This record gives sequence, structure tokens and C-alpha cells, in this order.
Amino acid sequence: MDSRINLLNFDPEGLCDYIASLQEKPFRAKQLMRWVHQRGEADIAQMSDLAKTFRATLAEKACVSALPVISDQQASDGTRKWLLDVADGNAVEMVYIPEDDRGTLCISSQAGCAVNCSFCSTGKQGFSRNLTLGEIIGQLWLAEHTLRKEPGAVKRIDGYDGTVIDEHESRVISNVVMMGMGEPLLNYEPVVGAMRLMLSDNAYGLSRRRVTLSTSGVVPMMDRLANDLPVALAVSLHAPNDALRDELVPINKKYPLKELMAACMRYLPFAPRDFLTFEYCMLDGVNDSDQHAKELVDLLKRIPCKLNLIPFNPFPGSGLHKSSPSRVQDFAKRLMDAGIITTVRKTRGDDIAAACGQLAGDVKDRTNVKQRMQVVKIDKGVTRS
Ligand code: SAH
Ligand code: SF4
Repeated sequence: MDSRINLLNFDPEGLCDYIASLQEKPFRAKQLMRWVHQRGEADIAQMSDLAKTFRATLAEKACVSALPVISDQQASDGTRKWLLDVADGNAVEMVYIPEDDRGTLCISSQAGCAVNCSFCSTGKQGFSRNLTLGEIIGQLWLAEHTLRKEPGAVKRIDGYDGTVIDEHESRVISNVVMMGMGEPLLNYEPVVGAMRLMLSDNAYGLSRRRVTLSTSGVVPMMDRLANDLPVALAVSLHAPNDALRDELVPINKKYPLKELMAACMRYLPFAPRDFLTFEYCMLDGVNDSDQHAKELVDLLKRIPCKLNLIPFNPFPGSGLHKSSPSRVQDFAKRLMDAGIITTVRKTRGDDIAAACGQLAGDVKDRTNVKQRMQVVKIDKGVTRS
């Protein structure tokens, strides 16, 4: 087993401490961060502006290692979905969604999830374990540097600090959403550490409004996030009253709507662009009636926000169905007529993102990921699992 320290596991401060422990000057941490995160260099020997002796010492003690890829699928619209091996028969998903004006990466924070929302494939798998900081930021590292090397990759942002230093530093991923598998606020420290790297000018240099954390509503952690690293916040609502939300999003029993909405109000002054996003998964006959729309208006009308209606992505055994497109449109109109900015999430790439958890669920059904690795093939025509 490799006993070396994985450099992906350090947030900016942690890397400075590590470098200090090796009796090196602090600016070495900056250089190292640039090599690893900006240039995607995994071979310490190639880091040419570090002294040869330091490179040799470091290569003995440390490495750069991302999660192994089990499968890599590309849809015809360019959406890309990777399945990553987190050992012990578990896997997590990561999805890249290219659009005209941006490239968004959706990443996972946990293998499985303990919140157990009734409409979520990840929740149905139960909780396996928290991902480490390295496994979280390693997803962005892997996707960015894989995509960047591909011919025809669309560069979204020129260079770090707004200046083009060289061709290798033009980025493909312009936005990150913590909307993959897991509840990010129940894996707080590693998630915040990874987001610090996303925002660091020596790493991915993304602005706070280009990093979105989606939560089912872990109230105390929302307050901590406002204080520590107030990135854009998306709150998974899915129901306009406690009785229904208790059923759909069980964490509501612990942090009911009144407390959740109060936490949202407290977050607002810290939120980039001064608004929050609410997500609402449209479930046929469950949360999509005119009465639900009315209750939702009452709940949201005093809070600056955007409401994102997500067509439910069905999966086997859920027993739930998606609302018809006309129902979704009518529901959206009622909200908009009441002055609430409402969007309906497009299917296509987003469809794969919303179904996050399904592929990994298939893996968990088998005891051995290696066995799975032999049967999953790269399928260039697949639009979703
Ligand atoms: N745990 C966090 C982030 C991951 S889930 C959260 O719940 O917010 C990301 C989003 O996908 C959430 O809004 C979630 O409610 C939604 N989602 C989960 N399963 C879905 C499904 N089957 N169809 C549509 N949206 C789903
Ligand atoms: Fe967990 Fe989010 Fe799925 Fe709920 S919707 S089970 S919080 S991943």
C-alpha cells in the first residue's frame, strides 16, 4: 500500500503547514498548489521550479492521487458522467454539463447519504462514508485536467487572476455545484476545505457565486457556512408545509420549515448576488397541486430568491412519477404571477445530474467494484443511466 501523503488532501492552509513541517519556505506551498491544481501535474519530478533536492524528498513522502475511474460516459449533447471508485464496493458520480456560456461540474460529497429523501436514488442506498477533502477536490482536479487536454475542449475562462499565463491555464470548468451524491453540510470540514481550494487564486480561482452548495437544510451548518465561506446556496425544499416535507425530506423533522426559513434569512446578507435558490422536485400528485403552489408562494414571497423546479427523475422502485410538463408549466406560472422568479430545469444534461446516484447504486448492488469494472463500457451514445 502507498503510505505517501496525498497532496490533494490539503487545503491552502494545510499545505502551508505541511511545507513548514518540511522546513521549506511558505512560497513553496504556493508553487506546489499551482503545479498540482492549476497545471494538473501529478509527477513531482516534473515540477521544474522546485529545487531538485526538494522534489526528491517530496516524491518520497507525497503523491498526487485522484479516485480511480470506473466508467466515463458521454451523452450526445456533450454531458459527461464519470463513476469513481471509493473502495469497499462503493462508487460516487460526477457530472460535467457544458452549456453555451459555462461549463458546470456537479460533484459528490459522500458515498451514499443518510438523509434518505424518498425521491432520491442516493438516499435509498443508505450512507456508506464521508469523502475526504482529497476525494472531493480530486473530482474537480480530474475533470478539469482531463477535459482540458482533450482536443476541441471549450475554454471558459482565460487564465487565473484574469491573465493568460499560458495555454495550459485556460480553464474548462467555470462553475461547480455540490449537487452530486451526499449531503455536503453533513461532511462539513472536508467540503469547506475543498471549496477553499476552488476559490483560491493559486488553485481554481472561482468566484463565490460560481460555487454552489446544495443542502437539504442542515440549519446549524448553514449558519457556520455563512460565517466561514459563504458560497452560493441552494436549498432543497420540495414541499411547502411540514407535514409533506417530513415525508419527502426526513431531516425536516429535525429542522422544520420555520427554522429552515429563518436560517435562509440569516444566510442572505452573506449570499453572493443577495439571493438564494430553492429547489423543488415536481412529483405527480404529491407536491404539485394548485394548493401547494399557493402555500409555496406564501412561504417564499418575503425572501429574495429564485425557485428552480426540477422534473423528477424516476428510478426503479421509487413508486413516484414525474409531474406532466403542462402541470409543471402551470405550477411555474402561478409562482411567477405571484412575483417569484421561477425556472424549470431543462432535461438533457441536467437530467443526468438529477439522476445522480443511480449508476453508483447499480455498483453497490454488486459486492465487488472490480467485477463491475469489467462490465461497464464507455458508451458514447448514452444520455443517462
Ligand atoms: N444533498 C443535497 C445535494 C445533493 S442532491 C441536497 O439534497 O440538496 C441535489 C439535488 O437533486 C437536490 O435538490 C435533490 O433534491 C435533487 N434530487 C435528488 N433526487 C432526485 C430525483 N430523483 N429527481 C430529481 N431531483 C432529485
Ligand atoms: Fe441526500 Fe440530497 Fe438525496 Fe436527500 S436529496 S437523500 S439530502 S443526496
